[in-house]
Amino acid sequence: MKKLIELLEKLSSCPGPPGGEEPVARLIRQHLEPRCQINRDGLGSLIATKEGTRKKPRLMLTAHMDEVGFMLQNITDGGYLRLQPLGGWIANHLPGQRLHIHGSKGPVEGIVASVPPHFKKEPKSELKVEDLLVDVGAASKEEVASLGLNLGDLITPSSQFAIYNEKLLANKGWDDRVGCAVLVAAMKKLNKHPNTVVAAATVQEEIGSRGAVTAVEVTKPQAAIVLEGPPADDVPGVAKDSPQGALGRGCQIRLYDPSTIIHRSFWRWVTELAQKHKIAHQLAVRQSGATDARAIHLAQGGIPTVVLGVPVRHAHSHSGLIHLDDFRATLDLAMAILKNLDNKTLTSLLPE
Ligand SMILES: [Zn+2]
Repeated sequence: MKKLIELLEKLSSCPGPPGGEEPVARLIRQHLEPRCQINRDGLGSLIATKEGTRKKPRLMLTAHMDEVGFMLQNITDGGYLRLQPLGGWIANHLPGQRLHIHGSKGPVEGIVASVPPHFKKEPKSELKVEDLLVDVGAASKEEVASLGLNLGDLITPSSQFAIYNEKLLANKGWDDRVGCAVLVAAMKKLNKHPNTVVAAATVQEEIGSRGAVTAVEVTKPQAAIVLEGPPADDVPGVAKDSPQGALGRGCQIRLYDPSTIIHRSFWRWVTELAQKHKIAHQLAVRQSGATDARAIHLAQGGIPTVVLGVPVRHAHSHSGLIHLDDFRATLDLAMAILKNLDNKTLTSLLPE
């Protein structure tokens, strides 16, 4: 388990906003080479192939490398930076938080400007990310340039890895570095499987699954397993009824979200497999959100796809929490699918 925690720490600490996933790709490559044959697609997704005892079916195991971040949109005359969000942020969560701006001289830290309570007037309208300013300690455009910062630089939250109460892990970026960690751990462990497993660590999910669109073309799978870090709903006031993504209750099997109706016989087979192997799991019918399944299930005439998730509390913010038991359960369920999904089984799940 120590090695897995180290992997989770490294992957979540890595900076990798949409379009800037290279540090994550390098780390995944280090772990999977030479066990797998590695390819890259034109947008940057990393594709790692491991042939089993049979060539078919080709199973796509996928997680997205990008995390929510920003791009440096503009620099004011007074030396403040403006942000272009890359992915879903809530502006009210940002004032007072620190960011890393990845410039030409390495990362520069800044603070999102915050109006102290002394100066606070009644809010006129809802705060937008576009209204925020980042303070890097510079007083002019020239001083900003001297720090190596330029328009288009990528920006990530500044956060720190920590272990809470022995089993919960805190850091930024669990969506979807926890999925990347399941992908890496599964590919390392995998042997004697009746199929070919193609692991795709995709780019640019947070801005609309763009990397999945191209990765699936290269992967050419017959079925797909999407590994995610979906938002947990077990914080008081979030779920109307009982939570469907609670920390410590196991792997979340998603049945629906507005982007995808999950392949019915595939998720039923996966759920039975979880029961058979006594793997803790929870079912979720999500009323919002989307995953790379959106692009994958619609490719090549339709690909049966399931979505497995390790719930993340406080997702899309500077600090999220995951539970080690959920990570373990998701890894176990992904492994069980890869070891059991042969051509005959997959054919039995498809319409006659
Ligand atoms: Zn995600």
